[in-house]
Amino acid sequence: MTLRGRLTSAFLVVVLGPVLLGSVFVALTANAVSRERTTERLDHAATTVSVAIGAICRQLQASADAVAVVPAGDRQAVADQLVARGLATEIWMTETEQSSLARSAMTGDPAATGHRDCAGPDAGREEATAMTAAAYTREITVTAAQRVDAAMLDRLGASAGVAVRLGESAAAAAGTADRNLSAEPGRPLTLTLTVPAAGPTARYLILLLIVLATAVVAVIAARWLARSTTRPLGDLAWAADRVANGDLDTRVPIPRPDELGRLAGTFNRMTRELQSYVQALTASRDQLRRHLAILGDTLSSTHDLDRILPVILRTAMTATAARAGLILLTDPGDGRLAARCGAGLTGAWDLSPAELTQRRLTPGRGVLGRVAATGTPSRGTSGCVSDEPACDSYLAVPICAPPDEESGPEPTVLGVLALYDRLGGPAFEDADLRTLRTFAGQAGVAVHNVRVHEEAQRLSLTDPLTGLWNYRYLREVLRREVERASRFGRMLTVLVLDLDHFKEVNDTYGHPAGDQVLGEFARRIRIGLREVDVAFRQGGEEFVVLLPETDAYGGVIVAERLGAAVRDWPVPVDPRRPGLADRIPISVSIGIAVFPEHGATAQDVLDAADEALYAAKNAGRDTYRLAERVSPALPEGHLDAATAITGGPQPPRHGRGR
Ligand code: GH3
Ligand code: MG
Ligand code: MG
Repeated sequence: MTLRGRLTSAFLVVVLGPVLLGSVFVALTANAVSRERTTERLDHAATTVSVAIGAICRQLQASADAVAVVPAGDRQAVADQLVARGLATEIWMTETEQSSLARSAMTGDPAATGHRDCAGPDAGREEATAMTAAAYTREITVTAAQRVDAAMLDRLGASAGVAVRLGESAAAAAGTADRNLSAEPGRPLTLTLTVPAAGPTARYLILLLIVLATAVVAVIAARWLARSTTRPLGDLAWAADRVANGDLDTRVPIPRPDELGRLAGTFNRMTRELQSYVQALTASRDQLRRHLAILGDTLSSTHDLDRILPVILRTAMTATAARAGLILLTDPGDGRLAARCGAGLTGAWDLSPAELTQRRLTPGRGVLGRVAATGTPSRGTSGCVSDEPACDSYLAVPICAPPDEESGPEPTVLGVLALYDRLGGPAFEDADLRTLRTFAGQAGVAVHNVRVHEEAQRLSLTDPLTGLWNYRYLREVLRREVERASRFGRMLTVLVLDLDHFKEVNDTYGHPAGDQVLGEFARRIRIGLREVDVAFRQGGEEFVVLLPETDAYGGVIVAERLGAAVRDWPVPVDPRRPGLADRIPISVSIGIAVFPEHGATAQDVLDAADEALYAAKNAGRDTYRLAERVSPALPEGHLDAATAITGGPQPPRHGRGR
C-alpha cells in the first residue's frame, strides 16, 4: 500500500469513524424518543377514552335512574324526553316479573346480544352494539342504552386523538402502535386504540444524507491532503533517485514554506554543495592525474634527480593540498641533510634553487633531523625548530631506499620529504601521511635508481686499476670541454703522459709490481691537480689530463709539477723481490697541447699532445714538450705538430728512445 493510500485511509478512519458512531447514537436516541412519545400518546388517549366511556355510563345510569324515580305513568314520557335529548339512544323498562314491556323510541331488540352493562364486566363474545345502565324499582327495571356504532367510536377517537375500534388486536399494523383497553366495571367495552407510530424515517433520511455528504467531503479532503502531502515527497524521492544515479543538476520545486518546503530546500542545498564538492574533487583529481602523468614521464625518461624530485614534490603537494614542501637528501659525504628542492617556502627558506641546495640540517635535530635519524614519519601542528621552514602544521616522512638483500630489513634512509600547511583546510590527517609515504616511496625508488645508475655509469667509465676515468669517458669529456671552451672563448690544455721504459719495470719487477706503479702514479696525478682538472687512463701506461681554462703556461707548470712528483719519490714495491731495490725509480714524459692554439677539434688537440709527447720521448724522456702552433687553415693530416720546443728539466735519466 502506498503512502498516499495509507494517509487517505487513516484520514477517513479518523473523520468518518466518529461521524458514523455519532449518527448511530443519534438514530438510536431518536428511535427511543419517538417510541416514548407514542406510548405517552396512547396513555393519554386511553385515559381520555376511559373517561369518556365512564361519562357515558354515568349519563346512562342517571337517565335510567331518572326514569325509575318518576311515577309509573310519567316514565315513558320522561324516557322519551331523555332519548330526545340524546342522553341515551334508547330506554326501556322491564317488569320485574317479566311482564309487558313499555318501550320508548326503541330500535331493535332490547334483549339483543351485544349489550354491555356498564356495571359489569364485558361478558359477551359477540361484538358490542350498545352500552347499558339499569335502575331497579320493585316493579320495573329501567335500562338506558347507548348504541355503540362507528359514529360513536369516531367521536371517541376524535376526542382522544386516536383511532378507536372494538375488540382486541393481536398485532399492530405496520407504521402504527396499538393499545388494547379491556372491559372493566365503568368501561364495559373492549377497545383498541391505534395511533400512527411517529416514525423517525424522515430524520433518518436526513441523518443518512448528512453522513453521506460527510463521507464525500471526507474522501475529497483525504485525497487532497494525501496528494498535497505525498506529491512533494514523491518529487523528493524522484530527485533523490536521480542524484543517486549521478545527476547532480537535479533540483526539486519548493512547494510551500512548511516542513516539506524546508526539506526540499535542504535537499537542494545539499545537492548543490555535493555538486560543488564533486566539481572540486574532479578538478583536483584531474590535476593530480596530470601530475602523476608528468611524474611517470619524468621517472621513465630521466635519471636526473634535479628534474625528478621537484615533480614528486609538486605531485605530493597537489595530492594533499599542501602550501609548501621540501625534499632533503642525506649527503653521503658528511651524513648531513642537504636541501635538494623546495616549493612554496617562505621566510628564511624563500631561496633560489642554487641557494637552497646550500642549506644543510643536522640529522637527529629538529623535526626533519629526527625523521631522518629514526626513519619514523612525523605529523604535527608545530614543533619545527628555528632553522626549519616556519609552518602551522607539517608532515614529514623519510625517503627510504627500496629494501634489498644487502641492506636487510631496516630500510636505508636517503632523505626526508616534508609538507607544510594545508591550503584552506584543517591540519594534515593520518590519511595525508599515508599519501605522502607513497610519494616518499616513489622518491626513494628514484633516488636509489639514480644512485645505482650513477654507480653503474661510474663503473663503466672508470678504470678499475687506477680509479681514474677511462678512455671512453675521456673522449666524451674532451669533446664537451672543447665545445665549452669554444663557446666561451676559453682555453683548454691537454697533457698526455707516458711512463718511461715501463716495459722494463714489468720485466724486472714483475707485472703485479708494474700495476702497483700504475696505481701510485695515478694517485700522484690526482693529488697534483685542481678540482676542476680531470685525469684519465688512456690505456697501458699512458694517461691524459685535461686542464680547463688553462693556457700553455699553466699546462707547463702542471707538467713540471707532475714530472717532479713522479721523479722525486720512487714507488715502493710490495712484496719486494730478493736482490732488487725496494723502491722503483720512475719518470714520465709529457706532451702538452692547448685548444685552440694547437688544434681546432678535440681529436686535433689530442693528436697534437701525442705528437708533443713523441717529441719529449725523442728529447730523452723525463721531460715535457709543448705542441707546435699550427695554422687552422691546414687540413687534418698535414699537421706537423711533432716539432717540439724544448722545456722541462734536462736531461732524461733513461737513455732509451721511443
Ligand atoms: P717508452 O715509453 O719510454 O718508450 O718505453 P716503454 O717501455 O714504456 O714502452 P711502451 O710504452 O711501448 O711499453 C708499454 C708497456 O707497458 C708494455 C706493457 O708491458 C706495459 N703495460 C701496459 N699495460 C700494463 C698494465 O696494465 N700493467 C702492467 N704491469 N704493465 C702494463
Ligand atoms: Mg706507452
Ligand atoms: Mg712508456
